[in-house]
Amino acid sequence: MPYADLTKEELLELKKSLKAEYKAMQNRDLKLDMSRGKPSQEQLDISMGLMDVLSSDADLMSENGSDCRNYGVLDGIPEAKELLGDMMEVPADNLIIYGNSSLNVMYDCISRSYTHGVMGSTPWCKLDKVKFLCIVPGYDRHFAITEYFGFENVCIPMLEDGPDMDMVEKLVQSDESVKGIWCVPKYSNPTGNSYSDEVVRRFARLKPAAKDFRIYWDNAYTIHHLYDLDQDHLIEILAECKRAGNPDLVYKFASTSKVTFPGSGIAALATSQNNLEDIKKQLKMQTIGHDKVNQLRHVRYFKDIHGMVEHMKKHADSLRPKFEMVLDTLESELGGLGIASWTKPKGGYFISFDTMDGCAKEVVSKCKKAGVVLTDAGATFPSGKDPHDKNIRIAPSFPPVADLEIAAKLLCLCTKMAAVDKLLGE
Ligand code: PMP
Repeated sequence: MPYADLTKEELLELKKSLKAEYKAMQNRDLKLDMSRGKPSQEQLDISMGLMDVLSSDADLMSENGSDCRNYGVLDGIPEAKELLGDMMEVPADNLIIYGNSSLNVMYDCISRSYTHGVMGSTPWCKLDKVKFLCIVPGYDRHFAITEYFGFENVCIPMLEDGPDMDMVEKLVQSDESVKGIWCVPKYSNPTGNSYSDEVVRRFARLKPAAKDFRIYWDNAYTIHHLYDLDQDHLIEILAECKRAGNPDLVYKFASTSKVTFPGSGIAALATSQNNLEDIKKQLKMQTIGHDKVNQLRHVRYFKDIHGMVEHMKKHADSLRPKFEMVLDTLESELGGLGIASWTKPKGGYFISFDTMDGCAKEVVSKCKKAGVVLTDAGATFPSGKDPHDKNIRIAPSFPPVADLEIAAKLLCLCTKMAAVDKLLGE
């Protein structure tokens, strides 16, 4: 029965029994962590073959004739561009291969725009006001970068099929201080939703007031499906921008952090030739070249995109039971109670969970006191401030399934306790 239909006496009775359950949980001395979207050890082990493909007698020449051990090849070896290009669904010529972290590349794009501007426009550091659009709930590390540079982060609600595009269009097209938008278009962090064709088309057709406005299209989960058949496929944004007569509008990012190793994968940026030229002016001051041995290692290991797709099925086999365990537990414990809602992703790394308004902080704190660490409530909003205090990001990848069941049960219990208190006006 929905909690809202319970009488005060029933709620008080329920409160008592939930409290006893919570005490029992506390006595179990749990130490579980569902806070960050890290691959589990089992997932890291999937890629250990990477360590075997280059031995001391391996030929380390790239197909362009350069020795991968040496300096040079600023934008990455051709075979790595080919592989990552296929992963990102863009031609190899539109790519730069970087080091291990795409977040680092995003930071560099902001930093370069701040100090030197975008394609000859005024550096952002010289402007009185710079605004960035943040789709919420979203990825805390995106918001942290633009906050760090002193920009105003403006929240845009995430709907089921992508951000509220009416709002995006209005702000981008009317306000010259809006310089960019953070997007996770596929299996978004944290909702797991993907943008519809209509949303992608509207993005590509934006007519920004600022000529140095760029869409930061973070395709972190581009091949990270949970299911073999039921997968999301998006219109490719670079090609769509070109078709719409807006070829320079987007920077597209990806990495193999959650394909191989987050600590030592390879990252890439895909964008138009004009943007690439602009970016390389800075890049050649920053480095003589990234880690080409690692690029070669990835290419020799996967061979081609088919190798990568097969590899991702092993990750899916490891992740799927974890997502399903959490989702099944949420459904069996909270279904029909009217006190919480959650997303049911088909890929990516997260489930987005909403408590009743004003309860998320309390739920996270209660879980912590019983030994389960969740991502801080509010983390999915700029400056960590969720105006409704209801969103919690669940990251099921790291703990073993058995631990997840306990952690999810505790989350449900704490959600019920907070809801009862709320309904009792306490
Ligand atoms: N973007 C998103 C949306 C992410 O969720 C993450 C990792 N949690 C990253 C980027 C980090 O990517 P990288 O490891 O390539 O820096």
